[in-house]
Amino acid sequence: MTDQAVMESRAAAAGRTEPQYEVVVIGAGVGGIYQIKRLTDLGINATVLDNSGDLGGTWYWNRYPGARFDSESYTYGYSFSREVLDEWHWKERFSSQPENLKYLNFVADKFDLRKHMQFNCTVDSMRWDEAENIWHLHIKEGDREVTCRFVITAIGLLSIPTPPRLPGMDDFKGQSWHTFYWPHEPVDLKGKRVAVIGTGATAIQCIAAIAGEVGSLTVFQRRPNWSAPLNNSEISDEEMADIRARYDEIFETCARTPGGFEHEPDRRGFYNVSREERVALWDQLYEMPGFAIWLRNFVEIFVDEQANAEFSEYIADRIRQRVKDPKVAEKLIPRDHGFGVQRVPMETNYFEVYNQDNVELVDISETPLERITEKGIKTSDREFEFDVIVYATGFDAITGGYDRIDITGANGVKLADKWKEGPSTFLGILVHDFPNMIMLAGPQSGSASTNFPRGIETGVNWITDLLQYVWDHGHTRVEPTAEAEQNWTEHVKKMYSSMLMRKAKSWFTGYNSNVEGHEEGTIRYFVYNGGAPKYVQKVNEVAHNDYRGVLFG
Ligand code: NAP
Repeated sequence: MTDQAVMESRAAAAGRTEPQYEVVVIGAGVGGIYQIKRLTDLGINATVLDNSGDLGGTWYWNRYPGARFDSESYTYGYSFSREVLDEWHWKERFSSQPENLKYLNFVADKFDLRKHMQFNCTVDSMRWDEAENIWHLHIKEGDREVTCRFVITAIGLLSIPTPPRLPGMDDFKGQSWHTFYWPHEPVDLKGKRVAVIGTGATAIQCIAAIAGEVGSLTVFQRRPNWSAPLNNSEISDEEMADIRARYDEIFETCARTPGGFEHEPDRRGFYNVSREERVALWDQLYEMPGFAIWLRNFVEIFVDEQANAEFSEYIADRIRQRVKDPKVAEKLIPRDHGFGVQRVPMETNYFEVYNQDNVELVDISETPLERITEKGIKTSDREFEFDVIVYATGFDAITGGYDRIDITGANGVKLADKWKEGPSTFLGILVHDFPNMIMLAGPQSGSASTNFPRGIETGVNWITDLLQYVWDHGHTRVEPTAEAEQNWTEHVKKMYSSMLMRKAKSWFTGYNSNVEGHEEGTIRYFVYNGGAPKYVQKVNEVAHNDYRGVLFG
C-alpha cells in the first residue's frame, strides 16, 4: 500500500472528509521542483500550483540582459541526483538566465515532474478549516477552489517586483517595464534612448549588458551600491570533468561554510595581520571569481565598523581607478553604508560603462525624480526623453509573496495582520495559528540567506522528514507552539544585533521605499544570520527531539 492509500483508508475509518490533495506546493521554482520530486517519490497525492506560464520561478521571469548566477553554477545546481550531476554540463562559471531555465527544465523533464504541475494558477487566498484540518485555496483564474491537508509555500524571496510609486507612469508613450517582467520575446534596443532607474544587483547586471548596444543610456541612481568583479569564465569539458569528480567535496565545502558557497572566511583576525597582508589578500580576492571578495574576506568586515571602513576605502580606490571622470567616480562610491552590509552585486565591466560617451549618471539624491511623462522622466531640474524606461527597482522581499495571498489561519487570524510589523516564525518553517502551512525558504529561515539551492535542499529534506513523521504517526495537524515561535524569533533578532547589516537600508532589513509601511524606520528581521551550518544544526536538533516545539494532532 502506498502512503497515500494508507492515509485514505485511515481517513475513511475516522469518517473525515478527504481533501483533493494531501499536499499542495505553491511555486514551481527551484524549491517547488525539488519538493514535488520528494513528495511524488513517496507516492503522495501532491500538486504544484504556479501563477506563471511555466516552471522556473526566478529564472522563468527575470529575462533582462545580463541576468545570471553569482553563485558558482556547479554549487547552484541540485545535489540530490548523481545522474543530474553527471549529465549536466555547466558552460559558464556563472551561468546565464536562459541556460539556468534550460537546466531547471532538464531536471523537471528527467523526472517527469511537469505532470504534477499546474500553471497559470494564482493562489490569491487560503483559508484553514479547523473542523476538517484542511486548507481551502482559492485560485484566481477560473475562480475555483482547491483543498489540501498541507500547503508548502515555495513562493520565493524576490518574486514580487516593486516599481516606483511615481505619478504619470501610465502616461509614458514608449516601452517600459520592471526588469522582472522583461519581455519574453527579443527586444531590440539598438540605437534607442534608454533609462534605467535603480543601481542594485539587477541594474548593475543589466546596465553593463546593454550599454554597448543602446543609442544612449541614462542611469538614475538614488544610492550607489558597493560592487566588485564577477570574474566569470567558460567551463571547458576538462574542467567540467574535474568538477564532476569533485562534486562530493564541493558540496561538503558548501555545507561547512556560512554562506553555503565554496568561499570560506579568513579567520586569521583582521587586526592580527599587518595592513600589507590585508591589502595582499584583497588584491587577490578582487581577481577571484564570485563572492570571494565578500565571503573569503576577514570576518570582521561584517561586524566591526573600523575594519569595514578600511576595506570599503580599498574598494573605493578600485572604483576611482576604473572610472575616468573623478566626479562620476565619487558618485559611484557609497557613503551611507560599508561594503558587504547590503547584498553585494557582482559586476562585469560595470564601472567602465561610465567611461562611455553614450552613458550618463543622474544622481537623483540631488535632483529627485518628480514624475514620468509622456516622453520620458522629469527630475527636479530637467526633463529627459526616452524610448524605453527600465525599472530595476527591486522587490517586496521575503514576506511580499505572503502578503499577496489573503491567508486566514486558525481562530480567524490573518497572516498579514500577524506580520504587520515583521514576520515571526518557528525555524522560518512554521507559524503559530497557521497549522499545516509549511514554508520553504520562509522568512527567518537559513534557507533564505544562503546560496539558494543549498538552503532549499536543507529545507525540502527537513520538511519531507516532518511530513513523513506526521504520516507515520497518523497525524493530520502540525502547528508550532506560541512559545517556540517567540523563542526562535528572539534568537533571529538577537543575531542581527552584532551585524553591521542591521543598519543598512536593504531588503535584508525589510526596507523598500516602494512598499507602504516598508519605508525607512522599521527593521524587519527577515533572515537568519547564523550561517548555514548553525541553521542545519538547529533544525536537526528539533527533528531529533521528536520535533520539540511542534504540536501534532
Ligand atoms: P535592490 O537591490 O532592492 O535594488 C533596487 C534599486 O532600485 C536600488 O538602487 C534602489 O535605490 C533603487 N530604487 C528603488 N526604488 C526606487 C525609487 N522609487 N526611485 C529611485 N530608485 C529606486 O533590487 P535588485 O537590484 O532587483 O536586487 C534584489 C536582489 O535580487 C539582490 O540583492 C539579489 O539578492 C537578487 N539578485 C540576484 C542576482 C543574482 O543572483 N545574480 C541578480 C540580481 C538580483 P536605493 O538603494 O536608494 O533604495
